Amino acid sequence: MTDKQNLLGMDLETLTSELQEAGHKPFRAKQLLRWVHQRSEADFSNMTDLAKGFRAQLEDRYCIHSLSPILDKTSNDGTRKWLFDVGNNNAIETVFIPEDDRGTLCISSQAGCTVACPFCSTGYQGFNRNLSTAEIIGQLWYARSELQKNQSVARIDGQMPVEPERVVSNVVMMGMGEPLLNYKELLPALRLMLDDHAYGLSRRRVTVSTSGVVPMMDRLAEDCPVALAVSLHAPNDELRDRLVPLNKKYPLRELLAACNRYLEHAPRDFVTFEYIMLDGVNDSDQHADELIEIAKQVRCKLNLIPFNPFPQSGLKRSSNNRVRAFSERLQNAGIVTTTRKTRGDDIDAACGQLAGDVKDRTKITQKRRDDEVIPVADGVIPIYEVRQ
Ligand code: SAH
Ligand code: SF4
Repeated sequence: MTDKQNLLGMDLETLTSELQEAGHKPFRAKQLLRWVHQRSEADFSNMTDLAKGFRAQLEDRYCIHSLSPILDKTSNDGTRKWLFDVGNNNAIETVFIPEDDRGTLCISSQAGCTVACPFCSTGYQGFNRNLSTAEIIGQLWYARSELQKNQSVARIDGQMPVEPERVVSNVVMMGMGEPLLNYKELLPALRLMLDDHAYGLSRRRVTVSTSGVVPMMDRLAEDCPVALAVSLHAPNDELRDRLVPLNKKYPLRELLAACNRYLEHAPRDFVTFEYIMLDGVNDSDQHADELIEIAKQVRCKLNLIPFNPFPQSGLKRSSNNRVRAFSERLQNAGIVTTTRKTRGDDIDAACGQLAGDVKDRTKITQKRRDDEVIPVADGVIPIYEVRQ
């Protein structure tokens, strides 16, 4: 291990003040960010437009240390998943989802998650630790440099070249972990994603997905408003307390009010509500009707997510017919509703399947109480202890 500071973890403001303290002009920070994030350069000696003396100083104090992949798999549908070793037997996952008009990178914010939603394999594994800014941004840095390599291959093959910066056009904080419970490290990472000297992504194309950490939603609105997705999953407190245990702390009424406050600052004029479709648990017509009442309280779009099963969950995906009927009921009530296409499930890269599941690599610090299950209609929801 090195005691040098990792440049991947520094946003423009931090780097500018560090360099100024060492007597350098502010534009040097911008120049450096461009080398590191836009040209994916990890070696100071290749930064040829920086004076040799400056490069030597940088070499003394800093490093550019990305993540090491321990797995790199591509699905039949083109979805690509990397598993990264983050030390101490912890692993995290990053997923790239190519589509015709965009490329979306799904980034992890924590190794594990304390919220412990029973339908999520990350929640199932317990909480290990928060990722650092460098580890969050390192996923984008690594994916971008890998995907750029593929682009040059495409060009040799005579295919249409794609601008490298367009390869990752969207970022969603929907990988492992609850981003708003790692706010301190998340914020500089978001700023780097948006910074024109780094990744230059539009605020509308960077999405933070949260299970509903109300005070941090307010902070995000102030500090760095980006697109917001809220994992709703249940239309009443009784059910949501079980499906998203954080609801006990921030119930629906508070969550909806926070969404409306967020919208005053948001780059988009709606919040995306994510709603996982669990057979016999939250997918009845009555649930749809309750959901309609919720959706009327916030400018929103609904995204139905067919549940991706994993062995220990004991839950089932709603049938296609049920998802269709549920969706139609919402649409007939005037709620914009889409259904998420499942991508990458053949390589366990689909939503909720990210568990860093290399044998013995993931330290489980939070044990599931196997004996406690709550029957809900035909489904059975295991209960987890929530670590505060
Ligand atoms: N912690 C944040 C972001 C990570 S989870 C959050 O909960 O919003 C990203 C999305 O994947 C959430 O909407 C989550 O509910 C969904 N998800 C989790 N497990 C899933 C599963 N097994 N099948 C489908 N979607 C799942
Ligand atoms: Fe955590 Fe989100 Fe998974 Fe819930 S769905 S356990 S909040 S990562």
